[in-house]
Formats: sequence, C-alpha cells, structure tokens
Amino acid sequence: MWSTLQQAVRQWADVLVIAPSVAAVVIGCNLTGGLQLLEWAALDRFFRLRSLEPVDSRIVIVGINEADIAEFQQWPISDAQLSRAIANIKQQQPRAIGLDLYRDLPVPPGHEEWLDTIQTTPNLIGIEKVNGNAVAAPPLLRQRDRVGVSDLVSDADGKIRRALLAVRPKGRPTRLSFGAQLALTYLKAEGVTLETLDMAKRQYRLGKAIFTPFQSNDGGYVRADDGGYQILLNFRGPSGSFETISMTEILENRIPPDLLRDRIVLIGPTASSLEDAFYNPYSTDDFTALYGLEIHAHIASQLVSAALDGRTLIRVWPDPLEWLWILGWSGCSAALGSTCLRKRWTAASILLLGGILVAVSYGVFLMGWWVPIVAPLLAVTGSAVTGTSYVLWKNLRLSHRQLEEYARTLEQKVAERAEQLQRSEEKFAKIFRVSPSPIAIVSLEDEKYLEVNQSFLKITGYSREEIVDRAVDEIELWGSRRSRLELLALLTRREVANNYELKFRTKNRDKRTALFSTETVDLRGQECLLAILHDITERKRAEAALETANRQLHHIATSDSLTQIANRRRFDEYLNHEWQRMARERQPLSLILCDVDDFKRFNDTYGHPTGDVCLKQIAQAMRRSVKRPADLVARYGGEEFAVVLPNTHANGALKVARAIREEVWKLAIPHATSRVSDRVTLSLGVATQIPVFARLPELLVAASDRALYEAKARGRNCAVAQTI
Ligand code: GH3
Ligand code: MG
Ligand code: MG
Repeated sequence: MWSTLQQAVRQWADVLVIAPSVAAVVIGCNLTGGLQLLEWAALDRFFRLRSLEPVDSRIVIVGINEADIAEFQQWPISDAQLSRAIANIKQQQPRAIGLDLYRDLPVPPGHEEWLDTIQTTPNLIGIEKVNGNAVAAPPLLRQRDRVGVSDLVSDADGKIRRALLAVRPKGRPTRLSFGAQLALTYLKAEGVTLETLDMAKRQYRLGKAIFTPFQSNDGGYVRADDGGYQILLNFRGPSGSFETISMTEILENRIPPDLLRDRIVLIGPTASSLEDAFYNPYSTDDFTALYGLEIHAHIASQLVSAALDGRTLIRVWPDPLEWLWILGWSGCSAALGSTCLRKRWTAASILLLGGILVAVSYGVFLMGWWVPIVAPLLAVTGSAVTGTSYVLWKNLRLSHRQLEEYARTLEQKVAERAEQLQRSEEKFAKIFRVSPSPIAIVSLEDEKYLEVNQSFLKITGYSREEIVDRAVDEIELWGSRRSRLELLALLTRREVANNYELKFRTKNRDKRTALFSTETVDLRGQECLLAILHDITERKRAEAALETANRQLHHIATSDSLTQIANRRRFDEYLNHEWQRMARERQPLSLILCDVDDFKRFNDTYGHPTGDVCLKQIAQAMRRSVKRPADLVARYGGEEFAVVLPNTHANGALKVARAIREEVWKLAIPHATSRVSDRVTLSLGVATQIPVFARLPELLVAASDRALYEAKARGRNCAVAQTI
C-alpha cells in the first residue's frame, strides 16, 4: 500500500509540483487584482448568454422621458404636477409608490398640495443620497421614515453589479436602500418580513430567501468596498425588463385598467439628457445603459422574487473552495501536459479542457453560482505550458547528459577499439604465420608479393627473400600465364574465387597442382589479393594411378589372356549393345563364328602349348582381316572365335569370312593329322540380320552356329552364309 503510494507519487511528481506552483502563482496574481476586470467581463458575458427572464409583472415604471419634459416645459417637474400624478396612480391602489426624484426643496407651484399628497399617501417612498454630495429626503417623508437611499455602487470599470440594500451613515441609524424599502413595503402586504438568522454574520431571511452580505473578495472581486449591506445583483435582463409607462400618460390618466394595482410603481427620470444612466453587465455601449430607476427596479424585483418565488441569488464560494477549484484545473492540465507526448494532442486536449472549464462555469452560473473562470483558465494554460516545457526540458537534459556521457567514454572507446584492432591484427598475423595452408598476399597495384607464410615457402621451395617484394611474373611459379589471367578475370567479375585448380612449379621445377581460393582485401588502404592454396598434387597423382589401374582392370576383365583379343564377356556385351544400336538405326548386323578344324587332333599331334601358339596366331590373323573400327574380333570359347560386324550386309560379312579363312590359310601352320589339309584351316558360319528390339541377339548367334555347322558338314575349310 505504502509502496504503491510512493510509486504513484514518483510517477506524478512533476504534476504534484507543477500544479500547486502554477495554482499558487495564479491565485497570487488574482489577489493583486490583476484578473478582476477579466472575471467581471466573463461574468457579464454569462449574463448576456443567459436567456432573458420574463417581464416582472410586480413592478411598473413610470418614466419621465424627453417627450414628457418637453411637454412640461420645466425640469424638475412641479410639485403640482407630481401631486396630480400620484393622485392618478393612487386610484389603482398600488402597494408601493417609489419616487426616484430628489425633492428636498419645494418646486412651485403647488408645494402645499404636494405636502398634502405626502401625508395622504402612506405608501409613498422617497429617496435620499448619503454618499458623496449628499441630498436630503423630503422632510415630511423623512419624518415618516419613508425614505430609501438611492446610492448605487459601481465597480472600477463603471458598471453596476452589486445592489446596496442598506447603509449606515456616520453617526446615524441604518438606512435601507430605495429598492429594499420598496420591496419590504410590497412584501409586508404578503406577510413577509425580514428575520434575523445570524446577527454576527448579518444573515437574514426574507421569505424564501436567505441573504448574506457581499464581502470584499467575493467571486472575481478583490478588495472591493463592501461597506453597508450589499448583494450581487441578479439582473433579469437588459432595458425593457419591466413594464414602462410615461409620465404624460399618468398625468392625462391614460393608464390601462389595473396596470398598477397591487404593484410597485417607480417614478423617475428616463430621459437621457438627465444623465442618470448606468453601465451594467448588459451594456456594450451608451445606448444599452440602464437608468438609475431601472436599476432600483431590478433591486426591488430581485428581493421580491427571491422572497416569494425562491428565485436564485448570485452566490459565491468561500475563498478556500475557489483556490481548490483553481488547483484542480491546474492539476488536470499539468497531468495532460506532462503525459501527452505529441504537441498537437497536448494543444487539442488543453483547448478541450479550457472549453470544459468554461462550460462547467456557465452551468454553475445558471444555477446561481459565480465561480472564477479567468483564474482557472490561466492555471490551465500555465500548467500545460509548464508541464510540456518541463517534459521537453527533462528530455533535453537527458539527451545532454547522454551526450556528455558519450563524449566522456568516447576516448576510452577509441582506445579500446584500437587495442581490439591491434589484437585482431596480431591474431590474424599469427593465423597467417602458423596456418598449415600456404597463404600469399599480392598487391593488385604492382602485382608484387607483399607477404607469404611459412607453409607457402615450404611447398614452393623458395626462401622469403626470394619472393617478397618481387613481381609475380618474375618468379615463374604459376604453370601457365593463361590460367593466371583467367583467374584474374574471374576475380574482377566476382571478387572471390573458390577452389580454382591451378598448376604451379616449385623452385626445383617440380610440377604440382593446387586449389586456389582468393579474395580481394583492403590492407591498410592497399588493394590486395589474399590467396590461400591447398596443395592437391598427391591427390592428383593418386587419382591418375587409380585411373590407370582401372583401365588395366577393365582390359583384364574384357580381354582374353591367351590371345589378347576381346573375351567372351566383352563379346556378349558388345553384341548386345550393337544389337540395340542397329535396331535403332535399322541397319544390318552380321556375326561370323569360326571354328578351327580338327584341332583336337592338332593338340594331340603337337601338344597343347603349340596349340596355344596356334590359337594366338589365328587371333592375330583374324584381327588383320577386319578393317572397320566397329568390327570386334573375340574369342568365343576353346578354339572358336567370333567377329561382330555392325552395319554390314550378308555379302560383306561373307567377304570378311572368306578373307579370314584366306589369312589363316596363308599362315600355313602345319597340321599333319588334319582330315582337310596339311595346314591349319578354319570353318566359318556367317549370319546377318536387321535387329528388332523384341528379339534377342542369341537369334543371330544360333543362325551363325547353324551356318558353321553347315560349313563343317560341307567338308570344313569354308565359309557358309545364312540370312534370316
Ligand atoms: P572339328 O573339326 O569337328 O571342330 O574337330 P575338333 O577336333 O576341332 O573338335 P573338338 O570340339 O572335338 O575339339 C576341340 C578341341 O580344341 C578340344 C581341345 O583339346 C582343343 N582346345 C580347346 N581349347 C584349347 C586351348 O585353349 N588350347 C589348346 N591347345 N587346345 C584347346
Ligand atoms: Mg570346336
Ligand atoms: Mg574344331
């Protein structure tokens, strides 16, 4: 709980400082009176905004206007005229007649008649002025205590906003104001009288209303004169709030029936030449000023309607509540100012807040309360500006601090970086030195070796002095200049080359092969080639040996060890292959099968080894007899041979068979026990066919075999052809 509170305080610390500070400044400013005029202006604006109240039917004004004065040809009007007017008014039995005219001196003619009127009109009330140039009341009215003070209190801007209800002139008893006198006289008839609620606070009840006197700092006022008993005036509206009739109409008795009955009638000047006009909240120029008479009517009306109808008075809050009100708005604004990050939003929300403040104040005013508007508006603006500025300043300070911190650590960072660089350079140099892979660095500008490592020297056989600082071309290291240029071209295209195979010669002129990986690098501003070699000479040699062995193996696998011509396996493979090929090409394939005649007897006669030699000679003779590269001579088995003749017609094949027989014949190998001849002879069977995929080459073999059998049958030492 405590920690949550602490956290909240920390979070809102700015607001908690800014809001009261700004509020204090604004309240201080208000106390100097600096905002008084603006607060009055705001109040006036509210009055003018408020809808007008209906005409007060309890009060009728009898105005003496310019036309009346012109009619009387005299000012002030005579006692006689006044008496006549009162007599006419009295006919309608009004409750109170207020005479807003100074009549301390007789105005002939008809003074006697006037004195008589005063005596016979108990509800006639006169005026006196007590402040400044005092004007006494008519003595007879004074004696009867039917006098009201007509002094009005105006503010520093000359406007009337307060009503003086009572004064106590020095050394004399309290006097009620003219308006109050009239109102009390009126209310007496309703049985409503003034009751004291709190003597010390001067709080009174009048019917439904409770009155508290105006104090010098009430509402927007600052150190105003609160002498006597004043209240704030709640005007009904501008001029025209009361029914008005002219003096001439009264004198000529042109009064609408019952217009004045049971009402308060106020008689007084409404002529502008008499300069009895006063500015008020509704005045915007000279023409909208209210006559003194109308002001008194407003005062009387306010008292009567408050007492009887409970119409609201204008009330104010005690000072501490006003301060709290200012502080509250200041707080809202400071919170907005320091939380809204975007300036545009801040401005919009502050404007909105100001709008809400004015609306709330106006609403409260409509309920009869006058609360400060300008001071909280000022606090709202001040707090927003201070809040935003404070946030900006804080951010600026933070940035400044970060910058300072950065500057402070920069030097250290540079040193650390330099050390890191040096370390990494050393590491690189070490890797370069001890790497088992040969590495060379070549400047691209002049193609000179800048540095080579130990492994490089080892495989090339050069010493460091013989290589470093010497041009690549000068040391005939690389096998061919062409392959080197090719590599360079590759590098300019791709900047890297990986496992590029390159031949090189060592100092001893040994030929070696290496895989060459290279990349362009920037070494202290110099563009270089970093080349790493991987010596694959041994691998290459092993590969070559393997290839030879494979070739030999293949030879062994496919050739006959005795005669060195193709063996039976090779024959089968080849026949199959050519069968397929000829089938594709739809060309004839021929096969010759040869068999040595009476070879068993040869062996028996000359021995097996001589038989072997004979077979070798026959194989060679057969080889000599075939001309085309695609023709294959193979040992078919024992003393039998075969010749595959792709792309050969039967005729051609028969010719080849005969050529073989001839060649063997020419060998003239003696064969004493042969039943055919005295020399070794061959029998040959030839078969030819255009192969088809659906059949097997065995068909051809069988046909040749049959032809061979035929040759044997015909007496041997001959070739027989057979076509399928
Ligand atoms: P024909 O005219 O009917 O062919 O009579 P032939 O004696 O040649 O036929 P036969 O099939 O009866 O005999 C084949 C002989 O070939 C049997 C064997 O001794 C001999 N022979 C088979 N292979 C070899 C060999 O590799 N070397 C030697 N020296 N003789 C072989
Ligand atoms: Mg045989
Ligand atoms: Mg034989």
